[in-house]
Amino acid sequence: TVGWGLIGASNVAREWIIDAIRAQPDNEIVTVLSSDNDRAANYAAENNIPHHCTQLEALLSDDRIDAVYISTTNELHKQQALAAAAAGKHILCEKPLALSLNDARDMIDACRRAGVIMATNHHLRNAATHHEIRRMLRDNVIGKPLFIRVFHANYLPPHLQGWRVNNAGGGVILDSTIHDIDTLRFLLDAEPVSVTAMTQSALFTAGDQEDGVMAIVRFDNGAIAQIHGAYSVKVAPGGIEIYSTDKAIVARNVMSQRAIGQVFLRDAEGEHEIPIVHENLYHRALRAFNKALRKEGEPAATGEDGLRSLAVALAIKEAAQTGCQREVQYA
Ligand code: NDP
Repeated sequence: TVGWGLIGASNVAREWIIDAIRAQPDNEIVTVLSSDNDRAANYAAENNIPHHCTQLEALLSDDRIDAVYISTTNELHKQQALAAAAAGKHILCEKPLALSLNDARDMIDACRRAGVIMATNHHLRNAATHHEIRRMLRDNVIGKPLFIRVFHANYLPPHLQGWRVNNAGGGVILDSTIHDIDTLRFLLDAEPVSVTAMTQSALFTAGDQEDGVMAIVRFDNGAIAQIHGAYSVKVAPGGIEIYSTDKAIVARNVMSQRAIGQVFLRDAEGEHEIPIVHENLYHRALRAFNKALRKEGEPAATGEDGLRSLAVALAIKEAAQTGCQREVQYA
């Protein structure tokens, strides 16, 4: 049995992760931690979680708990991960892992020292669509990828805005564009080296975090990606297009939490749809995490993946703030 403690009575756990944990054989959720006792009790009751608490130490000293899922607001991830690692718990942590590279590095080091698994919940790389795109690139179906366009702009409904509007860990880049970066790293098997960007605050007001970004990222294989991220537009379907000289991979509705989307191969003759067998992205993530627990593989996205996507997201933020191209610093 794998016993889980939920650190954070969050929306993402309620919508996706509780179900994904329970979909794995012999996985059960033991406790949920919230900073507020009433919210913890209500959340536990609503989600059939047998125990709840408000003290991290109580959760971490519980022997029935083998792994924790950290989905609190981003400034809390580091301290909670360090404590969980010290208690010998395996960790699935939400992105961004932390608000600085040093903090993310400390988290990874603590997990390594403690001999526990650390995973980052970059869900998009678990999509069957992205697995197929990656396979096509690896099999050289389109030849050398030169340009990528990522469309990941949507509208953040008011009930989800909360801390994302004005918390240092909020804003569209650290919250959403970071997923695009992880996805591109996964698809291209390449690392970003430099970035430039401009941001916008159309919905969030002055003084808040950015709610729109146009970023350009150069990879170490020479490819250049253009990323459009936003929380302020309602009718922009998510997608990704990858161009070589002769061909393109065109993927529509693939920047979603849901197991949807279509992938096409475009050549001189037109577009051909590639068959996809969809699977819940979070189920796939939890399956990989369970395999890692059994020492049969790596998590879908490791702590190092989380650190790398954070490094690029921070560089994009800095590029927008300074108006200068930035080299990505991974250390
Ligand atoms: P929520 O706002 O739902 O939860 C974050 C924290 O806010 C909770 O830990 C909770 O604190 C507190 N909170 C929640 N509801 C209330 C309330 N009604 N009143 C006061 N406090 C409340 O955040 P999300 O679920 O959207 O995001 C959590 C984390 O997950 C973030 O790191 C985010 O970046 C990430 N995320 C990842 C996604 C993915 O698909 N990978 C998708 C969405 C988010 P407490 O625990 O103390 O009760």
